[in-house]
Amino acid sequence: MSEAVRDRLWIGNEWVDAASGERFEVTNPATEETLARVACGGEEDVDRAVQSASTALASKEWKRLSPHDRSRLLWRLGDLVEEHADELGELETRNNGKPYFESRAVDMPFVAESFRYFAGLADKIQGATIPVSGPFLNYTLREPVGVVGCIVPWNFPLSITSWKVAPALACGNTVVLKPAEQTPLTALRLGELAAEAGFPPGVLNVVSGFGKEAGSALVRHPKVALIAFTGSTETGKIVMREAAETVKKVSLELGGKSPNVIFEDADLGAAVRGASTGIFYGKGEVCAAGSRVLVQRSVYEEVLEAFTERSKKMAIGDPMDKKTRIGAIVSKAQLERVLRYVEIGRTEGARLVTGGEAKKVDGKGNFLEATIFADVEPDMQIAQEEIFGPVAAVIPFDDLEDGIEKANRTIYGLAAGLWTRDVGKAHRFASEIQAGTVWINTYNQYDAASPFGGYKQSGFGRDLGYEAALEKYTQTKSVWVALD
Ligand code: NDP
Repeated sequence: MSEAVRDRLWIGNEWVDAASGERFEVTNPATEETLARVACGGEEDVDRAVQSASTALASKEWKRLSPHDRSRLLWRLGDLVEEHADELGELETRNNGKPYFESRAVDMPFVAESFRYFAGLADKIQGATIPVSGPFLNYTLREPVGVVGCIVPWNFPLSITSWKVAPALACGNTVVLKPAEQTPLTALRLGELAAEAGFPPGVLNVVSGFGKEAGSALVRHPKVALIAFTGSTETGKIVMREAAETVKKVSLELGGKSPNVIFEDADLGAAVRGASTGIFYGKGEVCAAGSRVLVQRSVYEEVLEAFTERSKKMAIGDPMDKKTRIGAIVSKAQLERVLRYVEIGRTEGARLVTGGEAKKVDGKGNFLEATIFADVEPDMQIAQEEIFGPVAAVIPFDDLEDGIEKANRTIYGLAAGLWTRDVGKAHRFASEIQAGTVWINTYNQYDAASPFGGYKQSGFGRDLGYEAALEKYTQTKSVWVALD
């Protein structure tokens, strides 16, 4: 994508100007330099994109495309993402601030994999024949829901985009994508790559802009049938309310305050490594971050010491440097928000054992040291609210019952980790924890084939996995035929 076109919207396989002509700056959080001036899409632009998606939905080129060919297009897009992984990875890192090794070695392969996994679904979507009473043939058709509005956040810009766009297209829908205002660049580039892969005009449209304008216009648009949203619980509630006006289907993947629970009989070395990646991977800007580290009291001091030592060694620096483990916080506003929580933690009486200070690298950037609060009470604000930064709250617990109770003491339920060598304990915990994903003796595992999403106020609906995709991105039609 040339610099020249980053300031436009991707609609109908063309770069078009925003109706208002307005643009906003996108910055590199590690250098605070302007990366691009991006088109500011508003209501009129969203309407144009939805009309384009709506026309494509009914078009011969898309509606009549054979499932095999749809599959081929998705596979081709996966290949193109792979071919451009260096470029996309670098763009993601410069835009989001995450270490290049994360975007290049983890995010981009996952994006390619998502397109390929759902390419495999495109030609396996089928209904059933139902044995009904009477002289009738009854069968079901699995049909696309229509125009899908995908609204994604800034923490895994292209990964989360692919989790929604790939299954939506596999099921024959068309898409209008609204990336986060901080990180629209890889999404815009994806639009271009989709056209190169051969997707017809209007099948994938990308409207950069602000949530309150472009995002809300998409949610309210009467021709959008489904909103697939990932973001904060607060915004998720607004989306749900606004979607109600036009009775849209909604899926919400929202915030978390996930527990990572270390029992005394665990392999403590592995558990400490897991606690560290659980919260510091992705700078802690991860919806499933293990931000509450619960440690059984008998091994509490030992685990805390090892966790602290390990955290002090997390290299902060230029995200493009291979040695960097903690990159730049996505924006100045987010850094300030995280620092406010550090202050709250101090005032609440939690013990700050390491970190807590903002840093500059070569005099620039929004960096924050790996931060650990110990002796955190489960009801403190830093143990209850999503901080979305590299800040761990370490909480002691007594036994299995107490561990489960404390782990569940939150409005969220996105994910949970636990560390034990006792198989019975592990499965008991897995069945009693209120979370959409449970990691036993590991953390942060994802696969395009495994469903991901929340319990409680972490939302509903699942990304990934074929069953969830069918449930979300298709609707069932029941057809009756009189046989007499
Ligand atoms: P938001 O939930 O506000 O943003 C997520 C997406 O929703 C963005 O594309 C955003 O656009 C859009 N959006 C915002 N308002 C509306 C609206 N009224 N209607 C439709 N779409 C809207 O997250 P923030 O970026 O404001 O981050 C704030 C906090 O949210 C973080 O500190 C973190 O705690 C949490 N969060 C959780 C995420 C998760 O993965 N669960 C991801 C991101 C944030 P725009 O970018 O223009 O605001």
